[in-house]
Amino acid sequence: MAATQPLMNTYAQQPVAFSHGDGVWLYDTEGKRYLDGLAGIAVNTLGHNHPKLVAGLREQIGRVIHVSNLFVHPLRDELAQLLLDRSGMTNVFFCNSGLEANEAAIKIARKYGHDRGIERPEIVVYDKSFHGRSLATLSATGNEKVQKGFGPLVEGFVRVKLNDAGEIRRVAADHPNVVAVFVEAIQGEGGIQPAHADYLRELRRLCDEKGWLLMIDEVQCGMGRTGKWFAHQWAGVLPDVMPLAKGLGSGVPIGAVVAHGAAAEVFQPGNHGTTFGGNPLAMRAGIITIHSMEEEGLLDRAREVGDFIMNRVRTHFAGHSGLVEVRGQGLMIGIELDRPCGDLVTLALDAGLVLNITADRVIRLLPPLILTLEHARHLLDILIPLIEARLARP
Ligand SMILES: *Cc1c(COP(=O)(O)O)cnc(C)c1O
Repeated sequence: MAATQPLMNTYAQQPVAFSHGDGVWLYDTEGKRYLDGLAGIAVNTLGHNHPKLVAGLREQIGRVIHVSNLFVHPLRDELAQLLLDRSGMTNVFFCNSGLEANEAAIKIARKYGHDRGIERPEIVVYDKSFHGRSLATLSATGNEKVQKGFGPLVEGFVRVKLNDAGEIRRVAADHPNVVAVFVEAIQGEGGIQPAHADYLRELRRLCDEKGWLLMIDEVQCGMGRTGKWFAHQWAGVLPDVMPLAKGLGSGVPIGAVVAHGAAAEVFQPGNHGTTFGGNPLAMRAGIITIHSMEEEGLLDRAREVGDFIMNRVRTHFAGHSGLVEVRGQGLMIGIELDRPCGDLVTLALDAGLVLNITADRVIRLLPPLILTLEHARHLLDILIPLIEARLARP
């Protein structure tokens, strides 16, 4: 197998090849149609073949794709300003992916410590978190499977349980070198586990008390997916550092670190960089994504359609012990069963629905934000019988 297969063996891929997409629909090379309940893992915010995105990107490709960060480019400032206006933060660094945004956040936290005379800074991170697969971000990640085989890990992380305010208060007392807390507003890979609003507010208080940076990884839950621009806004807190990626470019690779206050002034010339980050093509994708989301009312839509899906699943399975919990916010939804359900991926594909399973027993829905109530009904018409059939088997 390995010898004849040209790709490295990093993903157990489904034997389905999508040839094109349109709106919330994907089509495979045989012409079969699928409802996209995953959006390439929370990436295709505007769905597929969005007319404004396609026209804007075509135009941009003919104009200029890349110029490097050695030169100013107006689209960079324009996208940065759009993010700042919607986050209430002060400065942006653009990169190309989620792990790059998180890697930059970790560097900001460490240098923030060094600038204050802390030579061995520590960052508080979480059980079941996911921050990426570079050495620093996999070391911050709370999943042994992601770390196994890649030691020695990057040091300087202190791990705690999510939503346990007592534990992080104890860490604060015992660890004088902590400089930052690094938390997902809603853990994605960990099984759609939200940080409670009270807990995020407690973290903000603790960070203010201690002079720590509050760094909220919004790579998956940000960019409107939860029905607000950024998931932490449901708790009414302001982070110091916010990494973004996935949905920001509607499919064009892009990442960003948005920062506020002292954290925004940590990097000085020479401290950090990227060749591709901030390129005009990706900037154009981000700008069109944000404008189209507003023109089409996609934040409200995510909220309304997400609530509809979660309520329908809860009502349908009320009293059924096999369905443990329906969690999430907006169109970031986790349906936890009491048993492994990885086989649902293939069964759903057979039935014309793209979905994902995370944390072994959590059905994860991350559809494009253009999903309508009518699409949601179609999705549930496929999904509910699949869950019923799964719960009928041990
Ligand atoms: C996907 C993800 C990442 C990593 O993003 P990549 O673009 O795959 O590097 C980091 N953090 C969170 C919360 C994610 O969901």
